[in-house]
Amino acid sequence: MAGKPGDGLRVGVLALQGDVREHLAVLRELGADAVSVRRPQELDTVGGLVIPGGESSVIDKLSRLFGMAAPLRARIAGGMPVYGTCAGLIMLADTVLDAIAGQQSLGGLDVAVRRNAFGNQNDSFETDLAIPELGEPPVHAVFIRAPVVESVGARARVLAALPDGRVVAVEQGNLLGTSFHPEVTGEHRFHARFLERVRATS
Ligand code: GLN
Repeated sequence: MAGKPGDGLRVGVLALQGDVREHLAVLRELGADAVSVRRPQELDTVGGLVIPGGESSVIDKLSRLFGMAAPLRARIAGGMPVYGTCAGLIMLADTVLDAIAGQQSLGGLDVAVRRNAFGNQNDSFETDLAIPELGEPPVHAVFIRAPVVESVGARARVLAALPDGRVVAVEQGNLLGTSFHPEVTGEHRFHARFLERVRATS
C-alpha cells in the first residue's frame, strides 16, 4: 500500500499564537510526526514548519520575545520548507502593507502582502478556487480577515488568484503561502505539497 505524504517526517507548527491545533491535526492525518514549536531548540528538531493563521502582529511580537525571529530567518534562508496560511503568509512576505507600527515579518517570499485587504464588509467569505497545480476538485477556500498578495516579485510564482485577479496563493522554492485556511475545511493538498518538499529536502 502506498504510504502517506508525511510518513516518517518530523515537522513543526509555530505555536506562538493562532490556529495551531488544526494544522497539527492535518499534518498528523497525513502521517507526519507533527509537533508544536515555540523555542529555538524545538525548531532545531523539525525538517519543515507551518506558520498558522492568527494575528501576524502578535506572532511577530512573540517570535521576537521568544528569541525565535532570528533562528526562523536563518532556517528560511537555509532552505527549510515553510507553509504559511493567512497570518503565516504575512510573516513570510518580504513586504507587509498596512502593518501596525513597528511590525516586522520574517520574509523569504518575494511578495508584498496587504493585511486585512477585504475590508469590513467582506471580512470573511468562502469561495471555490481552481488551482491547476492541485488538479480537481477546486479548492474550497475560507478567507478570514485575509491578506492579498498585491505584488509578486520575479522570484515568486502565483499559485491561485480570485476571479478578479487578486493573488491569494504563492510559491517560491520551498516556501508556500495562502491567504486562506485549508486547515479548517478538510483540504489537505497544500499540506501534502509542503510535506513533499520536506521529504525532498531531508
Ligand atoms: N488579519 C490577520 C493578520 O493581520 C490575519 C488573519 C488570519 O490569519 N486569519 O495577521
